[in-house]
Amino acid sequence: MPTIRVLPPEVANQIAAGEVVERPASVIRELLDNAVDAGATRISVEVEDGGLKNLRVTDNGCGMSPEDALLCTRRHATSKILRSEDLENITTKGFRGEALASIASVSRFKLITRRDEDTEAVMVQIDGGTTVNSGPAAGPPGTTILVSDLFFNLPARKKFLKRPTTEMEHVCSTVTWLALAHERVHFTLVHNGRSVMELPAVASRAERIMNIYGRGIMGDLLPVSMDTPTLSVSGFISRPTLTRNGAQHIFTFVNDRYIRNRTVQRALMDGYRNILPTGRYPLVFLYLELDPRTIDINVHPTKQEVKFARENEVFTAVYGAVRQAWEQPAEEKHPAEPAPQYHFPPRQPPQTPIPRSAVEITNFSPKIGGDTERVESVVPVTKPVEWGDTASKSSPPRIGGDTEGVESVVPVTKPVEWGDAVLKPSPPKIGGDTEGVESIGPTAKPVERADAVSKISPPKFGGDTEGVESSIPPDLLRASSVDEAPELRVLGQLANSYILAESNGALFIIDQHAAHERILFERFLIHSARGPLASQILLFPATIDLSPAEMQVLSDSTPVFHRLGFDLEPFGPSTYAIRAIPGDLNLEAASELVKDMVTALQGEGNTEEKVERALHTLACRAAVKFGDPLDRDSMEAIADGLRSIPRRDFCPHGRPSVVCLSPEALRKSFRRT
Ligand code: ADP
Ligand code: MG
Repeated sequence: MPTIRVLPPEVANQIAAGEVVERPASVIRELLDNAVDAGATRISVEVEDGGLKNLRVTDNGCGMSPEDALLCTRRHATSKILRSEDLENITTKGFRGEALASIASVSRFKLITRRDEDTEAVMVQIDGGTTVNSGPAAGPPGTTILVSDLFFNLPARKKFLKRPTTEMEHVCSTVTWLALAHERVHFTLVHNGRSVMELPAVASRAERIMNIYGRGIMGDLLPVSMDTPTLSVSGFISRPTLTRNGAQHIFTFVNDRYIRNRTVQRALMDGYRNILPTGRYPLVFLYLELDPRTIDINVHPTKQEVKFARENEVFTAVYGAVRQAWEQPAEEKHPAEPAPQYHFPPRQPPQTPIPRSAVEITNFSPKIGGDTERVESVVPVTKPVEWGDTASKSSPPRIGGDTEGVESVVPVTKPVEWGDAVLKPSPPKIGGDTEGVESIGPTAKPVERADAVSKISPPKFGGDTEGVESSIPPDLLRASSVDEAPELRVLGQLANSYILAESNGALFIIDQHAAHERILFERFLIHSARGPLASQILLFPATIDLSPAEMQVLSDSTPVFHRLGFDLEPFGPSTYAIRAIPGDLNLEAASELVKDMVTALQGEGNTEEKVERALHTLACRAAVKFGDPLDRDSMEAIADGLRSIPRRDFCPHGRPSVVCLSPEALRKSFRRT
């Protein structure tokens, strides 16, 4: 029988580190959380080789006393909880008191910190969990933490780290999450000497989103908001004109902490049902506020997952917020929208506003898109960062001190030098580090950033660039929103399949089947809940034979069928008679239709999903076909119908129902610009 032993603290820390620290981005996340908790208004993140080699987080927060600086890297050292009751009521980001201990146990770690009231800073240097140096140092108020050679003492874990570019993607994403949660904090991110993100403090979340994704994004976002007695939901979600092929741009926050939660995710995607094509994901910036006592953030070591005590309420509120955003009339949708960047031709001032969509054709370049590789190509800082010399000698990026917070000009990130000691650790010098207090020589050449700054583009990470317009020739046609089109004047039909319409000099091309299907679907959706829709009585009742399971499904759903205008009746043990079907529709083969609807009602999903599937079937059958010649009245009915329904820009399968060619695109095609 082996003897039981208590693990030495270094080993315990390394084990804990395995849970908290997975990669450079997780280190950065912890350091950023701490900086935010320390009340910083400016935080800079500098990394080399995706953080594999060096990473440094500098903040202008409250700093630590020399005693705390020594204590903070001890396991379970925290200033944030004292009693177990405090665990119930956590409002800060960190709370376990193990992040710094963990990080310091698996890297070469250096901390320099100073409180406002102290005259000098203090430095603590730890290699793989062992304190190798500490003492006074030079530094402004605030805290700088430098982490090098992550996992140098745990080769097995180091093997799992990815290439610098991949690690950098995670770093970008982490900084983005934090920046979206704390818009009043100025964030900068520098990679290998190049500025990757420069996010000045702003007064609203909308502005922060625009900082990151470009101003144009607001046109493709809808505001959401929903308040219940126990929680509030706010933020922005994208219209179907802006989607991605992955969920990486879905940002959800609870009490300013970024989280992933399946209930929230599911409520969001349910809210988007019948709006997005399969396999496409929206962009979402969703902020939930609720009583911290109803959340458990202790379910995951990295605090990314939370559990809600009242899952249902969260689901209902999020789902409701998303649905409501779609149901609002167009005029109310863009309260915070900045002036749209229309490019009108100088000689043709429009009489009435041109629909946004109509003029955006050539403007529209999915701002988000491209992959992280491109992060590298953003705004070079003229002088590369040098990771030379000791870290404490580094000229700290101008952080701290200033209170001007909400500035709009992008400040220059000064070149920074990195600790040589960190790269090639010299034998530990225990005791006061006199190098530390040496003043810093002028290192920086003047940095020419004037024009680089204007070229700063949002970080472009993740996913493909094609957006929704993949099916549409680039630069010419785009999936269109008819939201702001004052009216659509029908010009005629093309190939018995498309309705051509005009509005303010823009040409709208409507897929007659997709558009009609969407119109009918919305109508059915309303009537399936409220009823009743007019019926047409069949001259000869039809019958359908059904399996016992299908009989059951149909009998359960009879009320819905009735509200839609069907008259159905059991007609023997395995047969139903159909006496009437929805009126005003061009429906043939009533029995086949009902049978298909029953099949739709049988599949997976909750009742609502099933009914909606059945309504798709009905709408698809009842809609005019691709290839049907249409008279003017029918075309006008479809064009008008499109303008009166929500979610009109896409058919229920998520295909666009209307595309448009702007005056600008037309001119371009004829080289008239
Ligand atoms: P936790 O955040 O869970 O308390 P950490 O290990 O992340 O645990 O940090 C330990 C303590 O160190 C914190 O409680 C805080 O008092 C202090 N600390 C860490 N980072 C900073 C910082 N950037 N500024 C000021 N204090 C800090
Ligand atoms: Mg912490």
